[in-house]
Amino acid sequence: MQYISTRGQAPAQSFSHILLGGLAPDGGLYLPTEYPQVSGAELDAWRKLSYADLAFEVLKKFATDIPEADLKALVHKTYTAEVYRNARPGDDAAQITPLHVLEQSDGNKLVLQALSNGPTLAFKDMAMQLLGNLFEYALDKQHAELNIFGATSGDTGSAAEYAMRGKRGIRVFMLSPHKKMSAFQTAQMFSLQDPNIFNIAVEGVFDDCQDMVKAVSNDLEFKNRQKIGTVNSINWARVVAQVVYYFRGYLAATTSNEQKVSFTVPSGNFGNICAGHIARMMGLPIDKLVAATNENDVLDEFFRTGVYRVRKSAETYHTSSPSMDISKASNFERFVFDLLGRDSARLAALFKKVETDGGFDLSGKPGSDGDEFAKVAQYGFQSGKSVHADRVATIRDVHEKHGIAIDTHTADGVKVAREHLTPGVTMIVLETALPAKFNETIREALGRDAERPAGFENIEALPQRFHVMKADVAQVKQYIAAHTGL
Ligand SMILES: *Cc1c(COP(=O)(O)O)cnc(C)c1O
Repeated sequence: MQYISTRGQAPAQSFSHILLGGLAPDGGLYLPTEYPQVSGAELDAWRKLSYADLAFEVLKKFATDIPEADLKALVHKTYTAEVYRNARPGDDAAQITPLHVLEQSDGNKLVLQALSNGPTLAFKDMAMQLLGNLFEYALDKQHAELNIFGATSGDTGSAAEYAMRGKRGIRVFMLSPHKKMSAFQTAQMFSLQDPNIFNIAVEGVFDDCQDMVKAVSNDLEFKNRQKIGTVNSINWARVVAQVVYYFRGYLAATTSNEQKVSFTVPSGNFGNICAGHIARMMGLPIDKLVAATNENDVLDEFFRTGVYRVRKSAETYHTSSPSMDISKASNFERFVFDLLGRDSARLAALFKKVETDGGFDLSGKPGSDGDEFAKVAQYGFQSGKSVHADRVATIRDVHEKHGIAIDTHTADGVKVAREHLTPGVTMIVLETALPAKFNETIREALGRDAERPAGFENIEALPQRFHVMKADVAQVKQYIAAHTGL
C-alpha cells in the first residue's frame, strides 16, 4: 500500500515512511492510493474478535510494510483493559469502546460509544496510544530519535505526553499558555515526572504558543538538527487508528451485515469523522456521517451550503466545548480530495484559494468554484450545530432520563444526533471525552461535580514539573537544544 499527497506533487511513500511525519512535502495530506475493501465475509469473521485483533485486521490493510507479527504485538500492547481502565462503573473495560444504549423507541435507537476511557479521558488516546508504540518501534529499527514539539490548549498535548512518556528515543516539548488551562488539564500534564516529557508554560495565549511552533518549524536547519517532529491531527497513522472504532461500533451495534448504522461525531479538525469517511469508503455499511459542531460552525456551514469559509482569530469563539474551537478544519482536505474525484490540481487550486481568499464555494451557484456540493450526500455527510444553551440542556436531559453524565463535546453530538435520526437505523454518537475534564459546565448543568475515575481524585495536589517561559522563539530553541544535547 502506497500513500500519495492530496496536492499531487510529492512522491508516493510507504506507511512507515509517512509514519513519523505530518504534511507531505508539497503541503498536501497523505492518503492511500486506494481504499482497501472489506468483504461481507470478513466483516462477519470480525464480529467475534477482541478490539486488539480487530485493530490488527484493519491496520494490516494499511501498514503493509510492517511485519504482521510486529503489528500484532503493537496493537496487543496498546488496546488493553489496563490502558483503557477509566470505563464507567459497570462497563467492561476489556471492550475498549463499550456501547451505552440511550434511547430505543419507534425503531429508533440512540447509542453512545465510549472512546474516552484511556489515560487522558478523551478520544485522542485511542490513536495516540498506538502512535506512541508505533513511533518507539520505528525509531528503534532506524536507531533514530525524535523530538516532538507542539502547542496545546488541553486535550492533544496531554494525550501526546501520556502516549510518549517513558518511550525510548522520544522526547516531548509541549507549549501551553501559562495559567490558561483548567486546573484539571494543567495537573494532568504537569504532574508527569517522566524525564522525556518537557512542559513549557508560555506567558501568553494559545496563539502565541502556536506562533512559536510555526517559527521553529520554519527554521529548517534547526528542525533537522534537533530532529523535530509533530503529532498533530493530520498525522496519517492517527487517522487510520481511528478507523478501527467505527468498525467496532458497527459490529457491536448490529447482528447482520444487512443492517446499517449512522454515526454522529463531535467535530473540530475533522480528524475523527475523516476516519468514519474512510471506514465507509472501505465498505462498512454506514448510512450517515453527521458532523456536529459547536458555535465554531465552519463544517456545518459547508455541509449545509457548500461554502467552506475559514474563520479569523477574532471570529473563533472560546466555548464550553473548547476542543472543537477551531478556525479551519485541518483534515477536511482529505475529504475534499475524494469529493473532487481525486483531482489534485483542482484541489491544490482550491486550497491555495483558502490562503488568499479565506475559502472556496462548491455550491454550483453562479461565480462559485464548482458544483460538487451536490455529491456530498453520496458520501453520507450531514451536519448540525449546538451552542452553549443546547449543551447544558442536553447534559441535564441525558442525566435525568438515563442517569449518565456526558461531557460538553459529547452533548453537542447527542443534540445534533437527535435531529438526524432515521427510523430503523441505529445512531451511534461518539463520546469524545469524559465529563470530569469539563467540570465547570457539568456544575452548571447538574449542580454538582462530575465524577472522577479512580486515581484522578486528587490530581491537582500532585507535585508539578514545568518550566515558565516568555513567548520568545530564541529562548525556546535554546531550551530544546540544551535538553536534547544535539
Ligand atoms: C479533539 C476533540 C474533538 C474534535 O475532534 P476532531 O478530530 O478535531 O474533529 C472533539 N471532542 C474532544 C473532546 C476532543 O478532544
